[in-house]
Formats: sequence, C-alpha cells, structure tokens
Amino acid sequence: MFKHPIRSGLGERCGRCDEGRLFRGYLKFNDRCDSCDLDFSVADTADGPAFFVGSLAMIVFAPFYFILPVANIPLVPKIGLWVVLLFVMGAFCLLLLPKFKGVLFNLQIQNKAEEAHFESTGKHGKPPKNWKD
Ligand SMILES: [Zn+2]
Repeated sequence: MFKHPIRSGLGERCGRCDEGRLFRGYLKFNDRCDSCDLDFSVADTADGPAFFVGSLAMIVFAPFYFILPVANIPLVPKIGLWVVLLFVMGAFCLLLLPKFKGVLFNLQIQNKAEEAHFESTGKHGKPPKNWKD
C-alpha cells in the first residue's frame, strides 16, 4: 500500500493501489477508487495545487516577461511573442494542475493528513504534557 504516491499522482492514479483513476473530469475526483474502493472524500487538496503550479509558472516564465519588454525587436512581433508566451504559460498551468492535485492528494492520504483539531486547555481540561504557561 502507498508505494509511490508521487508517481501515481503524476499518472493521476490512486495512491493506494496505483490503478484506479483519481479524476472523473478535469479536476473532479471520483467518489471512490475503481480498483481498491478507497473513499476519495477523505482528503481535500483545496488550493494547494494551484499555489504550487502558479509558483512554478512564475519561476519558469518570469524571466521571459522581464526580457521581452527590453528585447531589441519591433513592437508588433514583440506583442505577438507576448501573446504566444501567455498561451504557453496557460497551457503549462492547465497541464500541470491535475498532476499536482493528484500528487498532493496521494501524499495526503498516505500521510493521513487532516485538519487540525484543538482541544481545550482551559479551566475544564487537563493541559497536554508539553504545555507551557
Ligand atoms: Zn485504489
């Protein structure tokens, strides 16, 4: 179980069995794994994939957006390159988004990630052992 969460995520496959498809649409998760019946509602990647893909796109494409305005080429080809670069960056992001979502989801289910739970340490509760006043 959970042998290669990154590899299976990049292949948009279930992180537990590496066979069932994660998505039924572009970014819409299936309800359960077709192969191992894992419930896909146990984890939520939220906007994590968009953050990582956006950051990666910025790192990859930002140099072009700084170089292009000062490049010694006529205005019309420069605008054309700008538009082409915009579409390439959009395609880059749209291509990577399901891959990153699959990887983050598989890492969440492998590491049993969940929302933080806070317990009362007030008057009615006993503080945890590592609690410092
Ligand atoms: Zn599975």
